[in-house]
Amino acid sequence: MSIRNLCILGSTGSIGVSTLDVVRRHPEKFSIHSLSAHTNVEKLYEQCCEFNPAIVVMVDEDSAKKLKTRLKDANLTNILVKFGEKALSDIAQDNDIDTVMAAIVGASGLIPTLSAVKKSKRVLLANKEALVTSGQIFIDAVKESGAELLPIDSEHNAIFQSLPTTAQQTIGACQLDDNGVSKILLTGSGGPFRTKAIKELDDVTPDQACAHPNWDMGRKISVDSATMMNKGLEFIEAKWLFNVEPEDIQVVLHPQSTIHSMVQYKDGSVLAQMGNPDMRTPIAHALAFPERIEAGVDSLDFFNTPSFDFEQPDYERYPNLKLAIRACKEGQGACTALNASNEIAVDAFLNNQIKFTDIFKINETSVNKFVSERVANIDEVLLLDKIARVHAQMIVDNMMDEQHQNEDKVM
Ligand code: NDP
Ligand code: MG
Repeated sequence: MSIRNLCILGSTGSIGVSTLDVVRRHPEKFSIHSLSAHTNVEKLYEQCCEFNPAIVVMVDEDSAKKLKTRLKDANLTNILVKFGEKALSDIAQDNDIDTVMAAIVGASGLIPTLSAVKKSKRVLLANKEALVTSGQIFIDAVKESGAELLPIDSEHNAIFQSLPTTAQQTIGACQLDDNGVSKILLTGSGGPFRTKAIKELDDVTPDQACAHPNWDMGRKISVDSATMMNKGLEFIEAKWLFNVEPEDIQVVLHPQSTIHSMVQYKDGSVLAQMGNPDMRTPIAHALAFPERIEAGVDSLDFFNTPSFDFEQPDYERYPNLKLAIRACKEGQGACTALNASNEIAVDAFLNNQIKFTDIFKINETSVNKFVSERVANIDEVLLLDKIARVHAQMIVDNMMDEQHQNEDKVM
């Protein structure tokens, strides 16, 4: 394998840091050309010192200025510092790179990820929201450019690994029926509140929601895992990546997260990918594909592995999962609006502005309002995303007003 030149979008996040850990283990295979962050100057500075990239982008201008000063003080003036969203797309399209890790959180990752796709890069897709919010448009861009799309999300990476080569080579357009596949089994742990009394979910705190039993992740996806909106977004992601109908995807709760998802074949075989829950495994798989490289992850110890349990998801506990499956069946308008609304609602919950259970109320209102919107191109996706955010923020503001009024009455 010749050396791969990498751009990491979102290098300071959980996936970004895990990617750099795999890269660190294989300096002869990977070289870091560019890194990006939003505002985390300190972490990006540390990464610059270790990996000496050619270019770094901070979306926030003030943060970029601070980073530039830090690098100058450390005599690292060879590293070019840029800021702003356009600079993200520029590094993702640079002729000097062949591989892009798309690890920005949320729909902010859409345009830079699509930029990489359009330039036919190998795109390692962690940023599921990019695909959820644009669906067919994203997949069409992959087909048109011939970009190599590899899933990083552990479930989709597991499904990819369990599919035959012909399906792997046609991501976004696979004919699973022709490959003998009867069902995609999407596993999920059920998050930190799987056994909590449903009536207590009103009072859970952001820290409790972010304390995932098996995975160590960024705060947005951690809350999504607690509501199981994450599984809902993954349901939509699976539809697009593997070209399957919603009826052929089944969510299976598997609290131990040892099996990362499965493919069921017509002859009764079920192929699963297993391992310890550590994102360095799918990252290493996709970085080196089709080779296998060491990822720093311990092998499974079957004699000390807890038993495998499986359950049906309970939609009363996880109404966001049911809502996302509905949106997937309804169409792109519902999915784009749901994703936007969920980002606003999760952010408000993390800022202690609304209750955990309010996330669903906001998301449901959003899907109902925008379900018949049609989006035919990226500009229309961005517009609907914007409108749905404004709408969701309005509901958050109303909820906060109501809460203040209730507090005033009590006083
Ligand atoms: P984090 O919150 O840990 O990191 C997010 C990264 O994106 C950071 O580098 C952050 O920069 C950057 N960022 C945040 N907002 C913006 C913005 N508006 N514009 C540009 N960059 C921005 O997230 P995760 O690493 O957990 O998740 C990243 C993506 O991967 C998500 O889409 C998630 O769903 C997906 N994923 C994550 C998994 C995990 O285990 N963490 C597993 C499977 C999928 P800064 O640090 O400066 O804020
Ligand atoms: Mg996942």
